[in-house]
Amino acid sequence: MTKLLLAGPRPAISDVAQDQLAAWLVARGEPAYRAGQILRGVHRPDATTFSDLSDLPVRLRRALAASFGFSTIADSHVLEADGGLTAKAVHELHDGQRIESVLMRTPPRGQSRSRTTICISSQAGCAVACPFCATGQAGFGRQLTAGEIVDQVLHWHRAPWLALGRSWRPGVAEGHYNIVFMGMGEPLNNPKAVFDAVRLLNDPSRLGIGARHITVSTSGVVPGMDRMVDELPQVNLAISLHAAHDALRDELVPINRRWPIAGVLGAGRRFAERTGRRVSIEYVMIDGLNDTPELAERLADQARGWLCHVNLIPLNPTPGSRWNGSSPGRIHAFRGVLAAAGVPVTVRDTRGRQIEAACGQLHAQLAGRRVPRPAGEDIAAGTAVGAA
Ligand code: SAH
Ligand code: SF4
Repeated sequence: MTKLLLAGPRPAISDVAQDQLAAWLVARGEPAYRAGQILRGVHRPDATTFSDLSDLPVRLRRALAASFGFSTIADSHVLEADGGLTAKAVHELHDGQRIESVLMRTPPRGQSRSRTTICISSQAGCAVACPFCATGQAGFGRQLTAGEIVDQVLHWHRAPWLALGRSWRPGVAEGHYNIVFMGMGEPLNNPKAVFDAVRLLNDPSRLGIGARHITVSTSGVVPGMDRMVDELPQVNLAISLHAAHDALRDELVPINRRWPIAGVLGAGRRFAERTGRRVSIEYVMIDGLNDTPELAERLADQARGWLCHVNLIPLNPTPGSRWNGSSPGRIHAFRGVLAAAGVPVTVRDTRGRQIEAACGQLHAQLAGRRVPRPAGEDIAAGTAVGAA
């Protein structure tokens, strides 16, 4: 990052690059090496204010608090569902914009170990306007800064669900959690902040999260996908396809009018060929619309013969939606066509239905209302359990 991005009255520490922090220290007559020490301290799971950085002199902790915010997030409200396996936060930023992030735990099954996934937002709102998506229906608010993206991860990093104690070390995040850009917004319409955020998340002085534990999901911004090959080749790529022919995709994912299916899948193939990494194709199953056997055949043709994997996700209908999710029987039949064609395919669950976990739904429900405080009213079927 080259310049300070202001979030609130003071820049938040998560938006400050290490060399900027070092320059700030030197200007105050402090040694530059303290920059790494400060960043390591700020990213400790048990740190919630600068005064918690007990290995720094008190005068420095006070100066940090006077010059920097500890987080870009002013307040958070958390709801729990699925017996504690899913927790969703609405974060209020300093200018009143609201964004969402979700923590999902997958219990161990068979040979596979338990997994924790943190789903984060890249923009407040989204301009792509997919008609089945609550974020798309609400429209675009503004771009997030890199610090606002990282602070969503830090919110969960510090939360009781992860139970990361003082013994946590950067890089040991391997195995602790994965991060997916599947919250609000189109990450590749905000590439500078998203790419900077990925680098901050990777930074061994900060969280030290390996790129292979991070997934960027896109509605198909072709130039951004090509930039990922060059700049973030170890990050996973997911493409939200949702339709196997352009006339339908023009309606479901309107950015398709600019970058149609052939170009989007072409960029997916280039990514797979040049990085050797398997690309996920996300396909939201909408009853009677995109779940026919003919479309399954067409998708099989498009997905066969290159390094990809299809994820089928039943639509989680937004309030007032004209569509429903496909029935288990239709999903099973669709899956069967892909599997018979030799395409790797998984059926995924929409997690946290009780708390409206799909993209932007809780935000939509809260529009125009105060973010409730933990002791305050309940805003959805979940239970208020805490605030950042
Ligand atoms: N804008 C990016 C990333 C955020 S959306 C993208 O579209 O890929 C993350 C995923 O949630 C996308 O695959 C999107 O299609 C899906 N999604 C949005 N609304 C949904 C809904 N109502 N039910 C199920 N999935 C939904
Ligand atoms: Fe934007 Fe993704 Fe929602 Fe489409 S599905 S409106 S691209 S957030």
